Parts: sequence; C-alpha cells; structure tokens
Amino acid sequence: MPTFTAPVKDMQFVLHDVLQTSTQDVPGYEDLDRDFTAAILEEAGKISTDVFAPLNAVGDQQGVTLENGVVRTPEGFKAAFDQFREGGWTGLDCDPEYGGQGLPYLLSTATGEIFSAANMAFMMYPGLTHGAYSAIHAHGSDEQKQTYLPKMVTCEWTGTMNLTEPHCGTDLGLMRTKAEPQDDGSYKITGQKIFISAGDHDMSDNVIHLVLAKIPGGPEGIKGVSLFIVPKFIVKDDNTPGERNAVSVGKIEEKMGIHGNATCVMNYDGAVGYLLGEEHKGMRAMFTMMNEARLGVAMQGLSQATVAYENALAYAKDRLQGRAITGAENPDGPADPLIVHPDIRRSLMDQKSFIEGARAFGLWSASLIDRSHRNGDAEAEGLVSLMTPVLKGFLTDQGFDMTVLAQQVYGGHGYIEEWGMSQFTRDARITMIYEGANGVQALDLVGRKLAAGGGKPAMAFFEEIKSFIKANSDDEDLKANFMEPLKTASKQLQEAAMFFMQQGMKNPNEALAGSYDFMHLFGHVCLGYMWARMAVAAKSALDGGAEDRDFYESKLATGRYYMARRLPACAMHVARITSGAAPVMALDAANF
Ligand SMILES: Cc1cc2nc3c(=O)[nH]c(=O)nc-3n(C[C@H](O)[C@H](O)[C@H](O)COP(=O)(O)OP(=O)(O)OC[C@H]3O[C@@H](n4cnc5c(N)ncnc54)[C@H](O)[C@@H]3O)c2cc1C
Repeated sequence: MPTFTAPVKDMQFVLHDVLQTSTQDVPGYEDLDRDFTAAILEEAGKISTDVFAPLNAVGDQQGVTLENGVVRTPEGFKAAFDQFREGGWTGLDCDPEYGGQGLPYLLSTATGEIFSAANMAFMMYPGLTHGAYSAIHAHGSDEQKQTYLPKMVTCEWTGTMNLTEPHCGTDLGLMRTKAEPQDDGSYKITGQKIFISAGDHDMSDNVIHLVLAKIPGGPEGIKGVSLFIVPKFIVKDDNTPGERNAVSVGKIEEKMGIHGNATCVMNYDGAVGYLLGEEHKGMRAMFTMMNEARLGVAMQGLSQATVAYENALAYAKDRLQGRAITGAENPDGPADPLIVHPDIRRSLMDQKSFIEGARAFGLWSASLIDRSHRNGDAEAEGLVSLMTPVLKGFLTDQGFDMTVLAQQVYGGHGYIEEWGMSQFTRDARITMIYEGANGVQALDLVGRKLAAGGGKPAMAFFEEIKSFIKANSDDEDLKANFMEPLKTASKQLQEAAMFFMQQGMKNPNEALAGSYDFMHLFGHVCLGYMWARMAVAAKSALDGGAEDRDFYESKLATGRYYMARRLPACAMHVARITSGAAPVMALDAANF
C-alpha cells in the first residue's frame, strides 16, 4: 500500500529561502518564521501520515452509501474528521472574529497540499466548507455571518456549492432552479442540482448549501442568477439545527475516483433559502468561492502528483530489473534497481521538476492572495486573477500526467489496485474537470483575463520576469541555464499574446483555437520563473555556506532539468498557436 510523508523540507525552502516570507511586508507574515512554519507543517504531516493516508484506500474501496435517505461515509472517516476538527485545522486561516486562527492563506495552502496528498476525497468535506465560509464571509449580512460562520469554521456544520444541473454545467445561464420570494423575506427554492460534492454525509450536525437559482421575472441568462443559503436543518433562534428543510439526496453518483467523497444529486422541493448578497448578483458572490476553490483544485492536482511520485521513487529504488547499461550497480544482487535506467530517471525527473516548480508556483500565488487581502494590493490582485486559470488548468493537467508517469514506474503492478497507484490517477482525473473544465479555464484566460485591466497584470508579469533576469544574470551558470531559457520562453509567451491581440480582433476563433496551448505555455513560463527563483535562492544558500549542500545542489540540478527538458515545450505551443484557427476549424462537423 502507498505511504505518504509530507514534503516539509521542500516547503520550508520555498517559504523561507525563496519567498522569504517572514520578512515580507504582509500583516501576519512576521510570525511565520522557520520554526513556526516547521512546527505547523510537521504536525500537518504527522496527522496526514498516521490518520488520513491509511484511510485513503478504505475510502476508495468502500465508497459512500445512501441508506433510507442517510448518507454514510467510509469506515473511520467520522473519527478522522473529529480529530481534524479538534486539532483546529479547519479554521487555520479563518477570521478570529468567528473562531478562526487568522493565519495567512499561504500557510493553509501549504497544509492543503499535505492533507490532499494524504486523502483527497476526505479533504473535500472541509475544503468545500471553507469555500462556503468565504462566500458568506464576503457577502453575508451580519446576522448570516453570526449564524453560520462560527459553526462552519469548526466544521460542526459543513458547506457545499450547488451550481450544476443536468442540462447545464459550463453554461449556467441555462439554469432552471427557481427561487420564489416569500412574505417573510425568505425564498422557496425548487429544482435539481447534480454532482454536488460533499452534498450530504454523517460527519456534521448540519450542511449549509450555497445554491444558485433564478428569481422568476428577473433578467434572462446568467444575469438573472442569485445565490442562496439553504441549510439542511433550518437554524433555530438559539442557533441550533431545527426542522428538516425540504432538501434531500436523490442519488449518490458512481464515479471513476474520489469514492470517499459523496457526489450527490440534490433535490430542492420548495426548500427555505436565504438570499446571500444581492438579487441577480449570484455569480459575483459565487466567484468568491470559485476563485479560492480553483487554487484549491490546482493544489489537489499537485498533491496527487506528490504522493504518486513519492511512492514511485521508493519503488524505483527497491524493484530489481535489468542491469545498468554502464555496468552493474548492484553486483551482489540478481539485478539493479529500476532507478539506474535512464528512462526511469527521465520519468522521475519529469515528476520531481514539475512537483517542486508547481509547489513554488502555488505558494507564490497564495502569497499574492494574502498581499491582495491583507495589504489591499491591487497589483497582486490583478496578477493572481490572471494566474487563477493557469494554476487550475496547468497544474491539474500536468498533475494528472505525473500520476500516470508514477504508475508507469510500477509497470503492470501500477495497473493492479492492490498497489494503490491507480487510485492517484483516478482521483487526480476529476481535478481537470470540476471547478470549470480545463478547456473553459483556457477560454477564461484568453477571453477575459489576458485583456483584463487593459492588459496591465500581464504586462506587470512580463516586467517582473524581465527585471528578475536582469538582476540575476551575473553568475554564468545561472545566466546560461536559467535566465536565458526563461528569457526565450517569456518572449514566446509575449509573441503568442501579441498574435491573439492582432488576429483575435479579426476572427475570435484565432484566439480560441490556441487558448489551450496558451494556458500550457503560460504555465511553463510560470514554472520556469519559479525554477529561476529557486536556483537563485539555492545558489545563495550554497555561497553562504549552507550545511545541507546535497539539498541545494539537487535543487539546482532539478532546475536545470526543467529548463533544458520541460521548458522547450513553449516552442511547440507557440508554433501551434501561431498556426491559427484554420487547421483546427477545417472540417465541417459532418466530416469528423
Ligand atoms: C465528481 C464531481 C464533483 C463535482 N462537484 C461539483 C460541486 O460540488 N458543485 C457543482 O456545482 N458542480 C460540481 N461538479 C460539476 C462540474 O463542475 C461540471 O461537471 C463541470 O463544470 C463541467 O460541466 P458539464 O459536466 O455540464 O460539462 P459541459 O458544460 O457540458 O462541457 C462539456 C465539455 O465541453 C467543454 N465546453 C463547454 N463549453 C465550452 C465553450 N464555450 N468553449 C469550449 N469548450 C466548452 C468543456 O470544457 C467540457 O470539456 C462536479 C462534477 C463531478 C464529476
């Protein structure tokens, strides 16, 4: 069975050597010194290794059941959930006014990767609750905040997000669920939502559904959508769960992965709902939840790559097959371990260089979110908004690919359930689909984010890279192996953006046909930038006489690999983009 050990050392490197967190001018960061973050990450790692990881296969095998209207989670989930709550993990970055610990988002992003790597399906219950908490925190009335937030911070009550209906997923303007105003100010919610994660379960006292619905007579399409709080049990005046609301689980979906999470069909039969935010401004309110959720899903994609790689690495060192082409490395044994073979090395280096680059990208983005929330920094907000579809699309696509590579290291054993590698691949697959399928992320990036704010965030990003390269090109190794490749890739990204600007105006298909490549091109440039930053930090640690020389030398070697072997994908993407829409749109639908 697979095991999991939290990558605390690598996280510490990103937090302190690269981002230099505790010296950043962000309120709350002054407390995040090395000892403090090490203590939190190690504790998160301990409960993950000891409690959550062993339940991962249990959740996969047992799944969730629906018995007489009651949803039952797999054996051990409830006890683990109680332990998670009692440890205070659910409110790590929540507002102290409602019982949270008020720690920066950066820290909960790091612990999020750890927890999800151990058990992604399990972590979705508190994950969705956190998203719902954020939406109520940002858009709720004082009364709504007082009623729901303290219980959601502790996960005594969990949360869900209800957008999808059978006939509409991406195109939410087609939504049919309706909300009829009542004399007492509440609404009567009627309709069916499908695929609702953590829709119901037996681990909390109440479930607070956030439901998108249309108020009859409102504007057509997406402009007529409003957001409602619909509790499973209507909350009484003394703030305890009371009468059962008219919401029920119609079915639990059978699915490819994340079996431990309850993916529910939810039926609303005139359920009592309360408007959250303003009428017809539901998408705005929901986006608070979705942007946060998208970085969370990006970290899920990374997390599955992380745990799959850890196990593949151990297997590659243990499994004896064949001899090294350059001479036996294990002459006393019947064969050499897999890790001697260059092709296995290639696979492991692809995984390692992606994972460490993606981790830095995720944590850097989380620090931008803190900067935007805690300092009111508009530039950071613009940058993170631009990065959100890149994070979600690129990290989940590549994260999934890495789980496949890890599975391949096991040969046939990777395909056999007993080894547990197939679960990582199956679980990772959903991250490419939910929270907006990745094709739609690419559309968002090219259609909205690139030109948002007059293109200022994109320009700021290019400028940041340019000045970083300028400031770090004195060292010959850094210049040749990091700064020059980054400069080339950044130019390719700008070339693609320019192509969209010039051609997209004339024919939007020119931009949309290249949008997916653009998302990946952008992702590679971001990881290239992260690797260049990590290389500078590693070099500086070595020059400063750091003790753990192997760690920093390995960092540099892994970075050189990314720049030499992964970043050149940018040239392919830009060639595909500038070939335009014609090759993509050439066939009539009938000729496919
Ligand atoms: C396990 C699971 C859990 C989920 N959890 C939740 C949840 O908690 N809450 C919730 O509300 N929903 C949830 N979903 C729903 C999920 O978010 C949707 O499935 C997803 O947004 C896609 O919608 P769809 O399935 O209707 O696909 P469609 O919208 O029909 O899209 C089909 C394909 O077409 C592409 N496409 C669609 N429109 C365009 C376009 N304009 N241009 C280019 N390509 C396009 C998409 O990228 C996609 O690949 C979950 C789904 C699953 C499977």
